[in-house]
Amino acid sequence: MTETFPASRLWRDIPDLLFPRQCEGCGVDLAGNGTLFCWDCLAALPYLKPPFCARCGDFVAGDVPGDFVCASCARRAPAFDLARSAFRFDGALAEAVRRLKYRAGVWIAPGLGAFLAETWRAVPEALRGRVDFVTPVPLAPERSRERGYNQAGLLAGALARRLRLPCRGVLRRTRGTKTQTKLSAQERRQNVRGAFAVRAPYRAGNRLWSRWFPPVEGKRILLVDDVITTGATVDECARALKAAGAEAVYALSVARGNG
Ligand SMILES: [Zn+2]
Ligand SMILES: [Zn+2]
Repeated sequence: MTETFPASRLWRDIPDLLFPRQCEGCGVDLAGNGTLFCWDCLAALPYLKPPFCARCGDFVAGDVPGDFVCASCARRAPAFDLARSAFRFDGALAEAVRRLKYRAGVWIAPGLGAFLAETWRAVPEALRGRVDFVTPVPLAPERSRERGYNQAGLLAGALARRLRLPCRGVLRRTRGTKTQTKLSAQERRQNVRGAFAVRAPYRAGNRLWSRWFPPVEGKRILLVDDVITTGATVDECARALKAAGAEAVYALSVARGNG
């Protein structure tokens, strides 16, 4: 269930926004050290390690020697050039993402942004090139109104600050979509098909508009979401960006799995 985000709660939470005090995993006092997790919880986080698909970053159980592309990517190449996630959607990490998303845990975004930056820096240079800007997966307007913020937007902003890149909201939703949680991979693809569009890059003579919503043509874009499950959403976003002339789209999420 989505909770609303009353302004009074924001005021009350301001000290926590600035100085997170308790471990998101076990609640132990962190003495304002600025991290999300205590040492023990940090060590137990479900870090996503190889082997995973070189293209979509989906993980497999067991050992696969060398680089490989998963069956799904081999069957149908995704529109994004590469996708990676920092963690499996599990344990204390999943709880932190849920808190960010459903319980107004906006103070969590900078900490998760640090993990995103580490994950991005771990991608070999040969697989990725320069990036022009970071952009979030947009939230449906009605959900954005009831939640009061876009969790992917907060994460994209936090990541962009870490990477010293601009963050630009170049995508918008063209329509609402059903919650993906209970849908199959096939249904998810249909659910999001055509649901994203690139914002008109120019409004004649409006320099501010073209600064915040720059043209995507020829750009190399880092797309951010909180959770990637089947990849249908980031694939569809990448499709819209590529159709508008983007040169490369890389997708990055905090977690991978059933979020
Ligand atoms: Zn802890
Ligand atoms: Zn794959």
